[in-house]
Amino acid sequence: RIAAEDGPEGKGINSYLALTRDRAYAQASRIDALAAAGQPLPPLAGVPVGIKDVLAMTGAPATAGSLILKGYRPPYDATAVTRLEAAGAILLGKLNCDEFAMGSSNENSAYGPVRNPRALDRVPGGSSGGSAAAVAADFAVATLGTDTGGSIRQPAAFCGVVGLLPTYGRVSRYGLIAFASSLDRVGPFTRTVRDAATMLHVLAGQDTFDATSADRPVGDYVGALERPVEGLRIGVPAEYFEEGLDPEIRAAIDRSIEQLKEKGCTIVPVSLPHTKYAIPTYYVIATAEASSNLSRFDGVRFGLRSTEANTLSNMFKKTRDEGFGPEVKRRILLGTYSLSAGYYDAYYAKAQQVRTLLTRDFLKAFDVCDVLVTPMTPTPPFKLGEKTDDPVAMYLADVYSVSASLAGICGISVPCGTTREGLPIGVQLMARHFDETTLFRAAQAVE
Ligand code: GLN
Repeated sequence: RIAAEDGPEGKGINSYLALTRDRAYAQASRIDALAAAGQPLPPLAGVPVGIKDVLAMTGAPATAGSLILKGYRPPYDATAVTRLEAAGAILLGKLNCDEFAMGSSNENSAYGPVRNPRALDRVPGGSSGGSAAAVAADFAVATLGTDTGGSIRQPAAFCGVVGLLPTYGRVSRYGLIAFASSLDRVGPFTRTVRDAATMLHVLAGQDTFDATSADRPVGDYVGALERPVEGLRIGVPAEYFEEGLDPEIRAAIDRSIEQLKEKGCTIVPVSLPHTKYAIPTYYVIATAEASSNLSRFDGVRFGLRSTEANTLSNMFKKTRDEGFGPEVKRRILLGTYSLSAGYYDAYYAKAQQVRTLLTRDFLKAFDVCDVLVTPMTPTPPFKLGEKTDDPVAMYLADVYSVSASLAGICGISVPCGTTREGLPIGVQLMARHFDETTLFRAAQAVE
């Protein structure tokens, strides 16, 4: 199906950047042999999965959607990739994404945009657009994405699939090409909440290769789905229902809230008063960390090297000039600026303080509720090219996703209907740090 439909002679979805046929067939043979020998099969035995191209995986290049990594082949596997394969999954290949996971529409990839399989003239969302599109187009049963400010949840909403943002520290980041290390998280795209719970069970757990991975017991995520939601307190934050929200999306979210009520949940109005500062806070912190993380791409250690340069510093400059796209350059400039002497206190330090206030908003809300329910995106998927000339309009597409990222809590986007035009709508649920079990229970109730 990938060969027939993903490329330009098919539907031109452009979700896969590389296929790892040898690795996939070798694994399929191993699973086959286990089955033939009557051995017990691991939890993901034979399940075809795709991997966002910001995660290291042997057998294919890792581009991070950037020209600067062209030709780079990682010599090791990311922990998330290792865990999937150990659980029996068949790794199909690497998935298109925005360059270094910077974007909300997958139009910042150096390898071309991804089309939304549910409406080919629309964006799939970003930055994990290829991962969302591959599940929606049935090019994988599940995929891995990464979410720094919404990049799993928002494309899941745009493509009509489930996207999980695990708690920060829940899934190892080892082998992830870093964008903003205090925000980056690895998580699954699936068709159902149950599949997301199955995937998290395989992915979760401490990893000595990632110092920020948490030493917390892994929950029984699938088992939790058997417990009814009756009695759960569902918080509805007023700030997520203000102007700018598409009326059809609002109606769909209201229906999800009604569904939870019918199943015996109590609906609690709550307030997250610092929400209006989330976008500027996120774009200061994320760009600051990106400017630092991306300094490693110098033409020496990985991928592309400019052949024109005659001195070392020219080689650095020319490589970075040729290798990075415009959005990445914009962010390196913004981040370098806010970390500079004289501006650091006014921008970076201030943003860190507001990040704490945003986190406290959530902790306070979770005193009176167990799960928050909000829209995932202010609008349905927009047309390809519609926002590419206006970076600020693109940043505003993240209005409902970045707060959970800054606070480190877990979240999920679940399909909850379509617009009259047939475009997918997603509802977002958020829960306390490491409370994915409650998150999944509530998510299944709105599915
Ligand atoms: N759209 C946001 C950004 O461009 C989020 C990206 C992400 O989560 N990787 O930074």
